[in-house]
Amino acid sequence: MGRRIAVIGAGATGLTCIKSCLDERLEPVCFERSKDIGGLWRFKEEAEAERASIYHSVIINTSKEMMCYSDFPIPDHFPNYMHNSRILEYFRMYAQHFDLTRHVRFQTAVRSVKKRPDFSRSGQWEVVSVSSAGQEQSETFDGVMVCTGHHTHPHMPLHDFPGIEKFGGQYFHSRDYKSPQEFQGKRVLVIGIGNSGGDIAVEMSGVAEQKSEPNDRTQLSNERSESVSQDLNPLQVFLSTRRGSWVLNRVSDNGFPVDMMYGTRVMALLWKYLPFSLLNWIGERKINTRFDHSLYGLQPEHRLFSQHPMVNDDLPNRILSGRVQVKPNVSEFRSASVVFQDGSVEDRIDVVVFATGYTFSFPFLDDSVLAVADNQVSLYKYVFPPALERPTLAVIGLIQPLGAIMPISELQARWATRVFAELQKLPLEKTMLKDIENKKKAMAKRYVLSQRHTIQVDYIPYMDELAAQLGVRPRLGWLLLRDMRLGLQLLLGPCTPYQYRLCGPGQWAGARRAILTQWDRVAKPLRTRVLPETPRPSTMPVLLKLSAACLLCTAASLYIHRYPPLFIQNPPPFIQRFVPNLG
Ligand code: NAP
Repeated sequence: MGRRIAVIGAGATGLTCIKSCLDERLEPVCFERSKDIGGLWRFKEEAEAERASIYHSVIINTSKEMMCYSDFPIPDHFPNYMHNSRILEYFRMYAQHFDLTRHVRFQTAVRSVKKRPDFSRSGQWEVVSVSSAGQEQSETFDGVMVCTGHHTHPHMPLHDFPGIEKFGGQYFHSRDYKSPQEFQGKRVLVIGIGNSGGDIAVEMSGVAEQKSEPNDRTQLSNERSESVSQDLNPLQVFLSTRRGSWVLNRVSDNGFPVDMMYGTRVMALLWKYLPFSLLNWIGERKINTRFDHSLYGLQPEHRLFSQHPMVNDDLPNRILSGRVQVKPNVSEFRSASVVFQDGSVEDRIDVVVFATGYTFSFPFLDDSVLAVADNQVSLYKYVFPPALERPTLAVIGLIQPLGAIMPISELQARWATRVFAELQKLPLEKTMLKDIENKKKAMAKRYVLSQRHTIQVDYIPYMDELAAQLGVRPRLGWLLLRDMRLGLQLLLGPCTPYQYRLCGPGQWAGARRAILTQWDRVAKPLRTRVLPETPRPSTMPVLLKLSAACLLCTAASLYIHRYPPLFIQNPPPFIQRFVPNLG
């Protein structure tokens, strides 16, 4: 074992950092504030201070083949979209398999991380931690990996909601929402249409239908209880959004997971070369065939790919059956009612859930190391603070991808640990700053201006970018020649994380097999009533096939035009007989 690395947090990201340290023969010491691993994905009945908190029913919106660690496939019988308890089970299996938990100091919080006086020479850090018994300890580390996530601090923009102080009902942030039972029979308003807002509105609308007894409402004002007794069906969930949203489906064409159908390299090629507006047009047409977003009051002004994806299979159904009503932004709260920006008023709102997202911060770090302003940070490839004299601190998992976080965190961790081990170097500060600047500009150009769009990355381009740093980017052309079956899967099939274990440092012998059997693992949990044939997806939807074919033909003709092959420059006589002008 070599240099000591402090890993802060033992969630999905911290675990893979521990493993990456071990792979590079570094010595990890992981500080975990709570009693157990799993971070955000470990459900607790009560939200705990300084810890992310999820609701009981959360089902992840990325499929198992796309979200797993690259050298540890999720068991084939696990469902494709997993409940949080299954995800935790998978993390436990990962930790056990690679023997990671022995490196974790539980119930130990990091209080401060400071440069040592000789930092410019040694690159070392002074880490002060405190145990649950209050015992403080100061230690020196050669590197630090910050894995504290970005869903811990609720964004509660009460100043944007005039009159909230007069509101007599209950209100809270989605972080404190656990399950719908206690809201039976209430009239609920959910503000914000991210994935939390969508999930909570759908779930609450399942219980809000039951008729409430006036006794349940003794705490309400007279005005409120009086109107309840007059109303025959007072129960409802309202979902308020200030700009609408496009809604995607987990279940895609022929019932396959949406991220596997569209998270392909050929799709990434289209992304690179087709105009953004055309891509949006294709995507919007496609999702509007499921339900028309303007008919359902959800249509935003921005384009499909200008927002972080909202994935919800049940929301259209709830809107169509009237259980959820979509409303514009709130303009004012009154004691028992809410006025919306279109002038409509909803009386007797009992509960308001602010599903308004999260902000992040690093209270244990000095601003001179990493400053957060308006929910933005300056990190080279979202990992390294560019101005450090020595690259010995990395922030891992501080990204919001169009796809799963875990494999991205893993690739970041693999890269960072190789930099810590001095097997790789970072470019000059000015090059890093330029890269950061370009990324910020590209994000601002593409996404709607919002505090939630500050760390967005696209899954394949970003993974490839990291993989290129690390030397593990799959060599597609070479693979197509050498192992066509695998090469075609890489090009046309889903870009599953195993692709980044085919070559280079950290190569895994099981990667090829994992790629070739990925659709079997998709099918396995569905074969509960076995039929003679297991269907596989046609590798690409028709529209994409056409676009891909056009793109490939154009690329091929451009290439041939520029570098005419020998047989075209000097065609053999029998070809000249048929195509006389070819040469
Ligand atoms: P989010 O994605 O940040 O969405 C916040 C919502 O609140 C947006 O609609 C935002 O509108 C709105 N909002 C924020 N400030 C507002 C204001 N002042 N007035 C009105 N509206 C305001 O937060 P989230 O839904 O909690 O999701 C957080 C992360 O967890 C995301 O990465 C999400 O994908 C993930 N998540 C995943 C699952 C799952 O896997 N099943 C479930 C829940 C969450 P604007 O867009 O206009 O800013």
